Amino acid sequence: MRYVSTRGAAQVLEFNDVLLEGLASDGGLYVPEVWPKFSGSGTGDYLETAIEVMTPFISPSIPQNIFEEIVADTYSTFRHEEIVPLVDMGQGMYLLELFHGPTLAFKDVALQLVGKLFEYELGRRDKKVTIVGATSGDTGSAAIEACRDQENVEMFILHPAGRVSEIQRRQMTTVESANIHNIAIEGTFDDCQDLVKGMFADIDFRQKMQLSAINSINWARVMAQIVYFVVAAERLGGRRSPVSFSVPTGNFGNVFSGYAARRGGLNVDQLVVGSNTNDILTRFFESGTMRIDEVVPTTSPSMDIQVSSNFERLLFELLDREGAKVDEMLKRFRKEKEISISPNLHQELGKEWSGARFVDDQVKRCISEEAENSGILLDPHSAIGVLAGRECHRNKNIPMVALATAHPAKFPDAVEDATGVHPKLPSHLKDLMKRPEWFNKQPNDLETVQNYIKEIVA
Ligand SMILES: *Cc1c(COP(=O)(O)O)cnc(C)c1O
Repeated sequence: MRYVSTRGAAQVLEFNDVLLEGLASDGGLYVPEVWPKFSGSGTGDYLETAIEVMTPFISPSIPQNIFEEIVADTYSTFRHEEIVPLVDMGQGMYLLELFHGPTLAFKDVALQLVGKLFEYELGRRDKKVTIVGATSGDTGSAAIEACRDQENVEMFILHPAGRVSEIQRRQMTTVESANIHNIAIEGTFDDCQDLVKGMFADIDFRQKMQLSAINSINWARVMAQIVYFVVAAERLGGRRSPVSFSVPTGNFGNVFSGYAARRGGLNVDQLVVGSNTNDILTRFFESGTMRIDEVVPTTSPSMDIQVSSNFERLLFELLDREGAKVDEMLKRFRKEKEISISPNLHQELGKEWSGARFVDDQVKRCISEEAENSGILLDPHSAIGVLAGRECHRNKNIPMVALATAHPAKFPDAVEDATGVHPKLPSHLKDLMKRPEWFNKQPNDLETVQNYIKEIVA
């Protein structure tokens, strides 16, 4: 497999280069040159399906026997033997629980694998990198758990001081590992993101530190997520039997993996995008116009996003893979804060895609009713997936799978507010609130933070 950029002007690369590169040199995102088709049947076993589905994407970069070992090793740390259990909610609705990894969010499914692929590839090249990332919560802890104790990685995660939840902070700051460095920035999440961007823009710093990223635009993360869409279909009736998915969406990475599964041959009837008040994507699927608004904080903070970076990958497909058109459109979007697709294209899109938005009160009611009716505890993100799936479900004979992206104990305040129940952390995190924390407070100043990183890396 070779990979091309969505902007059409970067070098064509193999998997291992795409893995380490992240963003393409022309500013685009890497996508496979062709969509490989998977076979017509599978057993519903996670590891078997993972190896079969991902092999065409990683070959010939990673030897087959090594890849099989890495995959088996990755998912051995998940707390549930089915890795991603599928729960029947009745009336054609199912819940796919993606939160049984170490940090209780779906991001573990991909990042645990990506961390091990990094370790393998950096070891093979005898190369060291410095990974820097900004987080508003979930990504930071998932990335830290994925890269802790690795010899070839120094990792710096910036979070806004006092502005992440206590559980989210502690999941990052209690990791006792020499290569992990948490920095609490005196500022907002946007300040953290600007600092990271500033470091990447400083060519000298970037080269000296060998900067790298494992943020949500990394192709390997999208690839790893394709697997559970296929596994869900296998468990429900087979890869050729129709199935729909509803996905609580922020950066569009998770739901794009569902699209990729459909391109691989899965019989996907509907892809439903669930939004909170930050509903840029839902408005786009309704109107064909994408327009930027202010970000509003909600009880589902991992979806408090305006510009969904992975949307570029869908746009590339909608524009018949013409990179120059994608480039033109996204540059215009930056300048004018608004873009539209043609009415024909919008109509075409509506056959497969839909979106629905829910405000915090609706989310709270859903969590409360679900706990009462079925005993299932949903976190606010997962509740949006369930609500959107129910609202957009066109054909009740086709199963609708809502993706549960976080464990209820990751957002205990919202869950307790809705149900009166304080969800318990799983046993591996039972003493989280008592563990010692390690982090360093830094001002919102690029040079100061860069100097701190330089000192540690040296
Ligand atoms: C990251 C995250 C999302 C959003 O996923 P995207 O791939 O960015 O669309 C949804 N829910 C939870 C709990 C998350 O951590």
